[in-house]
Amino acid sequence: MTNRRSFLAGTSAAMAAAALGGASNAGAATKTFKATRLIATEEAFAIPEQVEAMRKAASGLWRDTDLDMWRVFLGDRPYSNNLLRQLLDIDAGRIQVMDDSGVDMHLLSLTSPGVQLLDADTATGLATVANDRLAEAIAKHPTRFAGLASFAPQDPARAVKEIERAMTTLKLNGLVVNSHTYGEYLDEPKFFPILEAAAALNAPIYIHPRNPPQQSFEQLFRGASAGLSSVAWGYQLETGLHAMRLIVTGVFDRLPNLKIVLGHMGEGIPYWLYRMDYMYGVARRNGRNPMQRMPSEYVKDNLIITTSGMNAHPVLQYCHSVLGPDNILFAIDYPYQEPNEAVAFMNTTPLPKADVEKIAWKNAERVFRIRSAT
Ligand code: MN
Repeated sequence: MTNRRSFLAGTSAAMAAAALGGASNAGAATKTFKATRLIATEEAFAIPEQVEAMRKAASGLWRDTDLDMWRVFLGDRPYSNNLLRQLLDIDAGRIQVMDDSGVDMHLLSLTSPGVQLLDADTATGLATVANDRLAEAIAKHPTRFAGLASFAPQDPARAVKEIERAMTTLKLNGLVVNSHTYGEYLDEPKFFPILEAAAALNAPIYIHPRNPPQQSFEQLFRGASAGLSSVAWGYQLETGLHAMRLIVTGVFDRLPNLKIVLGHMGEGIPYWLYRMDYMYGVARRNGRNPMQRMPSEYVKDNLIITTSGMNAHPVLQYCHSVLGPDNILFAIDYPYQEPNEAVAFMNTTPLPKADVEKIAWKNAERVFRIRSAT
């Protein structure tokens, strides 16, 4: 446990920086362009009520990998204190950080696992409070903040009501869900009203990572080094699987307007387009393809990816080449990742100027209906 905690405590920024940052600019002889505006689309915040709810949950003996992460956040040490302070600031301090790194806007979302670890009543109440706070912060700083609404999948009927309130009354910019809820994914029939409401309201759903369900964690990661189940690999496994489940169960055949947003350059999915189409093409010839279309068609039409925590030009160039320039959005993952590093990555991207502008801010304005700066 000590190893896991100390690993997590220093991990997000350091690992990402070490992993690919050094190599990402190598060979980029192409002329690069600095974007005229930057909208960062996976930026985390917290509210005191969430911190208290997590503190209460963390004080018990409940074994849960996300709760273990929060036990680190809630520990009294410089890393944790600084992180919580940054998460709780949706006012002047955060705007100063944005100004210092040249970021125009944060699209805010309640930090993982949002309300999804709590009981249905607590979670539903907390989502409402979080959405109200978010709307207040946006009203105070309308040119600097936009935001994604939380909801509690634990109670789908009340989740639909909160989604409607958040999108129509509060005028938030979309929805966030932190992958599984008690081990269940959004393709479960009981969650369909949530997806239906999102599609009807043109509310994109950002599926943000969390650790895989505890049962899977114990089977899949037993004996592995601490970070593998979370930021280094497990988040991508969990979140990519979630999106793929939506595709192969035919959710997008029923809701062709539904848009799902994935961070980390698509959680690995773009890399698998060829193989998925090949294999489901074989299944189709054998009359066993459960979808009306090929997987890559849903990926191109229904998925939107962001650059959060993947400041690697070769990965961006690959995604740009297979998905085109219209469904890739800039993101930092503040405060878990270093803003200056993400901004430098974006501003040295070896892509055509028009596409850099799309990725840096134009796509975000379109997808999340963020009002233009001018
Ligand atoms: Mn994040």
